[in-house]
Amino acid sequence: MRWSITLGAIAGTAIRVHVTFLLFLLFIGVVVYRANGPAAAWDTLAFVTLIFICVVLHEFGHILMARRFGIKTRDVTLFPIGGVASMERMPDKPWQELMVAIAGPAVNLVIAAVILAVMGTSLNIDDLAGIGNVSTSLAMRIAAANLILMVFNLLPAFPMDGGRVLRALLATQMGKARATRIAAGIGQAFAFVLGFLGFFGNPMLIFIAFFIFIAAGAEADTAALHDATSDLSVGDAMITTLTPLRPSDTIRETVDRLLRSTDDDFPVIDEQGTAFGLVTRNEILLALSQNSDMTPISALMRTADFVLNANDPLEKALVAFETLNVPALLVVDTTGQATGMITRTSIAQIMLVRTARPGWALHRGGILAENLPGVSRGPRAASSSPSR
Ligand SMILES: [Zn+2]
Repeated sequence: MRWSITLGAIAGTAIRVHVTFLLFLLFIGVVVYRANGPAAAWDTLAFVTLIFICVVLHEFGHILMARRFGIKTRDVTLFPIGGVASMERMPDKPWQELMVAIAGPAVNLVIAAVILAVMGTSLNIDDLAGIGNVSTSLAMRIAAANLILMVFNLLPAFPMDGGRVLRALLATQMGKARATRIAAGIGQAFAFVLGFLGFFGNPMLIFIAFFIFIAAGAEADTAALHDATSDLSVGDAMITTLTPLRPSDTIRETVDRLLRSTDDDFPVIDEQGTAFGLVTRNEILLALSQNSDMTPISALMRTADFVLNANDPLEKALVAFETLNVPALLVVDTTGQATGMITRTSIAQIMLVRTARPGWALHRGGILAENLPGVSRGPRAASSSPSR
């Protein structure tokens, strides 16, 4: 996530803070400072730090629950309305997503309950209203803040936890993409109401509403893409007319090939057709400005550490593009021979084709090999000798 600062890591999960979260803390700090003077500054600092820790604990509620289902989390980024944990994938089953979503607010409830139990008291609505009042004890304000965090996160506004609970409940009755669209629509409608209220009350609400609106839309788009490609294979979207390079090709030879091609990404394939790696147009141009013309391309290529098979679901390619920082992915057969390449553009292309002709698929079942232009009609990318 851009515009965020890494603070450290716990159990393999990096903790990051988005600048808007810092602005949010600053806003609260300034408001309290102006209302109660410099004497309240230390108190506010303690309060803000404790809230920050509670939000991290909330996120680790999600993260640890996800880990129970075998899902790792790379990092967690804190935003004003809570944190966003970048899990390597979402739980497949709706009940798992429900458990993961509800684990965060549950942590806030536990924190509040423990504080109230220790203090031997209960909260009333005046305590909740007195959250910004320094005359209320710090522990009571933390308890109140945790209850507010819990309630706010449970609002059914996707992508907040309550929205995820709603999506999970809807997904038990319909497809996941449709459930996401409905949950995102409710989230965006909620954002409008919230933003409208912001004009008459706390202007911070406008800012939060904006965040919800953007995040809900992005989530709906991603779900729609995954849904629209759910019945496609890598073979349906891959490029088979490649401009292959040999590992021993020099930068000079590579530039010649670049000038005679419209491709952006060039697979590096040896004489036996084995996939070696990949080099992009920008990398070739950068190498040209920094290296000798006779440098072999194998010295600057990205090695093909992650490859796909034509029969893999296209979903696998989408996930790889979301998690790996790669421009393209090579497609190989069971013997490691390159059969094609998949890029974001080639995925977009099959989506455009499907918009024009719903349900379109290039190959189905066992006719995959015969339909590949590289196999039956044109020169096979992997084994053809490069024309120079
Ligand atoms: Zn949460």
